[in-house]
Parts: sequence; C-alpha cells; structure tokens
Amino acid sequence: MSRIEEFKKFIKRKKIFQPSPTIYESIAGFYEYGPFGIMIKNKLVNVMRSEFQKYQFWEVEFPLIMPPKVWEASGHLERFVDKITTCQKCNNIYRIDKLIEENYPDLKLLEMSDQGLKKFLEENEIICPKCKTRLTDVGDYNLMIEVGVAGRQAFLRPETATTTYLAFKDYYSLFRNQMPIKIYQFGKAYRNEITARQGLIRTREFEQFEGQIFILKEQEHPFEEFQHVKDIKLPFWSSDAQVHGKEPELYSLEETIDKKILQKEAFAYCFAVAYDLLARIELDLNKLRLRQHLPDERAHYAHDAWDLEVETEQFGWVEICGIHDRGDYDLGRHQKFSKTSLEVKNSKGEKEVPQILEIAFGVGRLMYCLIEQKFTIRDGKNLLLLPKEISPVQCAVFPLMNKDGLGDIAAKINRALVINGIASVLDLKGSIGKRYARMDEIGTPYCFTVDYQSKKDETVTIRDRDDTSQIRVPISDIPSIVRDKFLKSS
Ligand SMILES: [Zn+2]
Repeated sequence: MSRIEEFKKFIKRKKIFQPSPTIYESIAGFYEYGPFGIMIKNKLVNVMRSEFQKYQFWEVEFPLIMPPKVWEASGHLERFVDKITTCQKCNNIYRIDKLIEENYPDLKLLEMSDQGLKKFLEENEIICPKCKTRLTDVGDYNLMIEVGVAGRQAFLRPETATTTYLAFKDYYSLFRNQMPIKIYQFGKAYRNEITARQGLIRTREFEQFEGQIFILKEQEHPFEEFQHVKDIKLPFWSSDAQVHGKEPELYSLEETIDKKILQKEAFAYCFAVAYDLLARIELDLNKLRLRQHLPDERAHYAHDAWDLEVETEQFGWVEICGIHDRGDYDLGRHQKFSKTSLEVKNSKGEKEVPQILEIAFGVGRLMYCLIEQKFTIRDGKNLLLLPKEISPVQCAVFPLMNKDGLGDIAAKINRALVINGIASVLDLKGSIGKRYARMDEIGTPYCFTVDYQSKKDETVTIRDRDDTSQIRVPISDIPSIVRDKFLKSS
C-alpha cells in the first residue's frame, strides 16, 4: 500500500479528524477532531501565537455572529457571491463557472451579466449533469451563512479579518496613538460552499489565524523592522513569471524589493512572519511557493495579493496562507458605513485612513499539510515525525511486564510527569514492540521503559522516536530530562 493510502487509513483509525456527526448523517464540510487531532491543532495554534507574539502582534477575539451592516460595509453582502444555476427538474445547484470551465476555459464569466449568462446557457445547451435537463436559470448564491438571532437577521462571519478591523479606534487609543499597530485573531469562520470537498481543505466551518498590520502610508517604505528579516529567502512566483510560463524563483526579501517584485518593505516583512512560522514547524520549504494573484483574480480593492501554497500528495498545491495588501479599503468602508472617523494623523499632521497589510492562515489546511508531510513509514511501520512541540503526547511510560512491581514503578513515573505539566501516558498492554509502534504512530517523542534493572538501580531506558536510540537515565531525573528536551526542541 502506498504511503498516502496508509496515511488516509491512519487519519481514520486514530480519529484525527472526521466528518461530523458520525452516528447520524452528516452535512458535508463539517469536521470533528478526536483527542489526538485536537491536541495537534491546539499545539500548532500555540506555536502560531508565539510566532506572532515574537513579531509583536496582540491577540483579540470577536463574536462569530455579526449584524448585516458589518457585511454590507465589508462588501461581503454584495460581492461574496457565486453565480449559480438551479436545475428546474431535480433542484440541484451548480456553480456556473465550475460547470462550464472544462469546455469553455477562456470564457470571461465575471464580465457577463445575468442576462448574458442565461443566453450562454441556452445557446450552448448546457445540461444538468445529474438528470440531463437543460439548464436556463441564473441566480446569486451568497457564501455567508445567515442566522436569526431573536428574530433579527445576522450572519456567521466568513472571515475573522473584518471583525478585527471594527475596533481599530480602540487599538489606536490603547497603544497611545502609535502606528503601526499589529493585531491577530484566531477563530472560526463559515462559508456556505456549494460543494464542500477535499477533507479539511474546503470545509464550511473552519478556523483562521489572521494577522493585520494597521499602518500609515509613509511607514510602509522604508520600514524599519525590515532590516531584521531582509535576508530570508523564499520561492516567489510573480504573476509576470506565471504569464510567461516561468517557474518560481528563490529571492531574498531584499531582492524582491530591488527587483520590484514587491513594492514596499512593510509588505515584504509580512512574508517573513509567515516564513518564520513555517520554518519553526519544520514544513518542507522545498514544497512551498508564493504565487502572486493574477490581475483578474485579485479582489477589486487589493493592491497586491499572494498565496502561500504547499504541495501535497493528496490534493496537489494547497493555499495555506494569503498575504494581502488591502490598502485603505476596509477602514475607509467602515468609516463611511459607521459614520465614525477612523482617520489618524501622519507625521505631517495630515489626516488619513490607515492601510492594512494582512497575513491570513487557514489552520485546518496548515495542519493537514503538516501531518501529510510528516507521516512516514519506517521498517513497515507508521511514524508521525511531527516537530516535538506539536506531537499530541510528549512521552509514554511502559513497564516491561505488568508484574513484580514494575507496573507500580511505571505508574509512579507517569504520575511524576503529568503533575509536572508533561503530557504523558502509561501503557501496560501488549508487547514492548507494539507499544513503541503505537506511540511512534502518533508521534510521541520519548518512551520510558521500566525493566528488572530499574528495581535494582532506579534507572530506566529512554527511547528517542527519531533514531530509536536508547540510553539509561535515573528515574529521579525524568521530569527535568523531559523538560530540557522540549525546551531545546522549541
Ligand atoms: Zn437536474
């Protein structure tokens, strides 16, 4: 069986994530995480928090539900829409672009009116893939999920970003009127995808981790902090290179500015924030590219937009992060719709609406890419080579036999570990080989084995997941040994 087939079985067997609920019919695009899965995700999010804090971002949290006015201002009510056609016979809904992209790849759908689309469907005799009825209906499908709150219309947020923007004035006064201001938010968002697919890649409920830099125009270039990160190298694939059929090329951030691939140092700095996180979680940087949006796929307000993509075995290139220069669009719109001034003064004393630079990660996608990459088969057995700080369980304790007092010693060691805040499990069942294999499969970095020598000299063996090496250590030192190892790995 191939690695990827084994991997899919592993996800299922260990309940890392799965469609939810499992005992009733589920709605596509909603997932639950089992005990190991949520541990991995939580630890990944903790690493993300610590990386963004390193770049001096502050965290905020906002409600998932917001009134229509917010989405009117953000543009989501009007523009967050797919063109659909509904089969008049079987009631199936299709995205028109997906339905016809294969046969008419050059068609500029975005430029067509509803009348034009209707005419196109009729003239080309487009039929329902399911029941073969001719399709003629054209409609709008908003991707936001509408909810009612005490009889009033509201929407589940389709992104965290918009909610982060709403309190800009508060950040400005809290941080004593000093710009730039860096804020991130982690939390759920919802999109009513017409077809949810590809596991965690396109879900209707998902988690985002989005950093926003509120900045004055004059601060964007030059940008002081850029000096610390300018030598970081990444594979950039500009829209120009894509159009000319060229491959991504490795450039330092300084070179991207010199070659005018990126226009502003503050924007280039956003790529460093993303890069540092990926390097820390040991994502294979050879399977990474930064793809610039082509002019016609860019949001209407965006000055520049790039997708950070990871090559996966199961789904090909997957976007895990968007890096966007949103200009003053967002705060400008919220200023207009809320009739609240969101302007601040620049160094010349002139008022301006701040610019926003965004680093937007999808947490589920990032987690998927990481575990797919780190899933390995060693000597015919599964091994999850996650970075040690992200492994769901930090260590395990086994007695060689569960008799002659060995089990009691193991239980004592395990207790010493857990009361010291270390995620440890005690496993008494099965052969030692099978117990190691169970721990390797979920990526447990260290296993302690209590044997007969332990009774004589109060030592145990510690086995390292990565190279399976074993050494003897004194039982009394175990909590501090584990703490040291995890400090070194992070
Ligand atoms: Zn039909």
